[in-house]
Amino acid sequence: MTEMTVRRAFVPSPNIAQLKESATIAVSARAKALRAAGRRVIDLGAGEPDFDTPEFIRRAAQRAIDAGATRYTATEGILPLREAIATLANADYRGDDRVTPGDIVVSTGSKQSLFNACFVLFGPGDEVLIPTPSWTSYYEMVALARAEPVPVLGDPANGLKVTAAALAAAATPATKGVMLNSPCNPTGAVYDRAELESILALAEERGWWVISDEIYRRIAYAGVATSILEVASSRDRVILVDGVAKAYAMTGWRIGWAIAPRAVAQAMGALQSHSTSNAAAVSQHAAVAALTDRGAAEPSIAHMVGEFERRRDAALAMLAGEPGIGVIPPDGAFYLFLDVSGTRGNSRNGAGAAFAQHLLERHDVAVVPGAAFYTPDWVRLSYAAPLDQVVTGVQRTVAAFREMKS
Ligand code: GLU
Repeated sequence: MTEMTVRRAFVPSPNIAQLKESATIAVSARAKALRAAGRRVIDLGAGEPDFDTPEFIRRAAQRAIDAGATRYTATEGILPLREAIATLANADYRGDDRVTPGDIVVSTGSKQSLFNACFVLFGPGDEVLIPTPSWTSYYEMVALARAEPVPVLGDPANGLKVTAAALAAAATPATKGVMLNSPCNPTGAVYDRAELESILALAEERGWWVISDEIYRRIAYAGVATSILEVASSRDRVILVDGVAKAYAMTGWRIGWAIAPRAVAQAMGALQSHSTSNAAAVSQHAAVAALTDRGAAEPSIAHMVGEFERRRDAALAMLAGEPGIGVIPPDGAFYLFLDVSGTRGNSRNGAGAAFAQHLLERHDVAVVPGAAFYTPDWVRLSYAAPLDQVVTGVQRTVAAFREMKS
């Protein structure tokens, strides 16, 4: 008898039946690969600040390594970091149930906190409302929890923001939660106090969970954006997710967190204890410096936001001359969301995908197709790149639009 090797095809588990690769990360990877192959690609796809982590934070990390911050920490994170997070949160929150370190779980980037929150709150048969467009991973995270993501399209006349009425219209008895994000990735729209209040009132009335992703909160051009904690009178149904990645230019350090009702925080911690355990110890110490040395942190945030604003203004001025491209003037984050439905190109994934491909292949500029955000006729352009690259990138975007105009 001869031995036979039987090769079996990979049949994915039902856990990932619907899973798509992250389009934001895929675009960045493609831009890097083209650069490595010698193409001079301008990467306006990546959603990360192009600034160095401020020196006072880097030094704190170096000191922490030398002091022995090289081992496991508690799964939920070191106490000084959770205390610093609680102190900042309580400056916003007026309710009686003050935020304490026990309500906080530090994670490997805010992405992990968002995933953990979806996984412990939602399950089969549940529907979760997602104001649309929204960051690509919300839809996937809800689906990974085997719940149903329900995109609720925002109002184009109001920065593509959703209203409480639109959410109410999309709700069913199966609705269990809503994912908020202000400033919004990919539009840069900022929800004001009244808008958040009315959405929160609806969620309270219906008993929905509110997951509020505030990772871009400090990157807002008319001052710090309103936090859900500033309008909430109780935290019973609120999970706030934030991190150091954007405000402190610390994407690679991978530190995020969730502030949640105690029982939810404990469930998220238990889940995390079986996946990644604690976030990197040295990164947690760096984050303590970022959050506690306000005298050093505030000027560096102000500098970065000022630069983003200059780039935004330059890009908007150029786009004003091309009325065929619809633009939402962003009040925060560092993205321009462009309506390219006036182009001829089309693909399975909408006009945005055909446009993004043309722009990359013919003009060496990477942007993210809007299909990633459930709005296929748009593209997202990140201006987290040096001003000269943003200017050249927008010039080429306009040129590509003229070539493809219908
Ligand atoms: N949030 C960023 C973006 O939208 C980072 C990439 C990612 O994790 O998706 O580009």
